[in-house]
Amino acid sequence: MIKIDALPAFSDNYIWLLQDPEQRRCAVVDPGDAAPVEAWLTANPGWQLSDILITHHHFDHVGGIEQLKASSGARVLGPANEKIPRRDLALGESDRVTVLGHDFQVIEVPGHTLGHIAYHQADQHWLFCGDTLFAGGCGRLFEGTPQQMHASLSRLAALPEQTQVYCTHEYTLSNLRFATTVEPLNTQIAQRLEQVSQWRAAGQISLPSSIGLERATNPFLRSAQAAVSTTLAARDGIKERSNIEAFAALRAWKDSF
Ligand code: ZN
Ligand code: FE
Repeated sequence: MIKIDALPAFSDNYIWLLQDPEQRRCAVVDPGDAAPVEAWLTANPGWQLSDILITHHHFDHVGGIEQLKASSGARVLGPANEKIPRRDLALGESDRVTVLGHDFQVIEVPGHTLGHIAYHQADQHWLFCGDTLFAGGCGRLFEGTPQQMHASLSRLAALPEQTQVYCTHEYTLSNLRFATTVEPLNTQIAQRLEQVSQWRAAGQISLPSSIGLERATNPFLRSAQAAVSTTLAARDGIKERSNIEAFAALRAWKDSF
């Protein structure tokens, strides 16, 4: 049985820590900083860090690789199409990799960056999606086009609804505030905002999310909804637009929200 915990890093990053208590082995996803991981390993003597999974090249996701690789010798897995320090295994679309005895499939999700990948474990319903799909939101378009990001998010949204979404940032509250502005009449969004507000006020993490919950409450997966078109049209007067145009308009709006 694998246990998954979040190690907080920087101001709002999470480094996901997968633990196999029987083998006393663990893996981390996107260690932007080595310190929280090394602190955990120090507090849990006898554990071996076996794998470092990387979703994309941004510093807050790769900054801890060098130090962790040097101290543990862990295997570094990362996207083939990006420059990742100390990478041992270069991964692309549909590649399969075994981590802690579990089979993960790689999904290419360009948009936030061009080489961004996600790791999906279909039996356990885990998705490690970096800065692509967030709880209630999505990553900024630093390198890709709205079309690419829309296609990437559509692929993730098509995963089974019980899939647990392990994204890398605690942005949920601000994302849901935006979501209520986009869909003021959506009661599931309102309820989720209320719930996450309580969690955050109590110092609790808002993750993981699930694909089912994201489909119901994440405006970036809902650009085809009539309620979203209505809100966008009220803002700029444009009544006809494609799903991708609606997605692009939402993303641009959120950038300055
Ligand atoms: Zn990033
Ligand atoms: Fe990030």
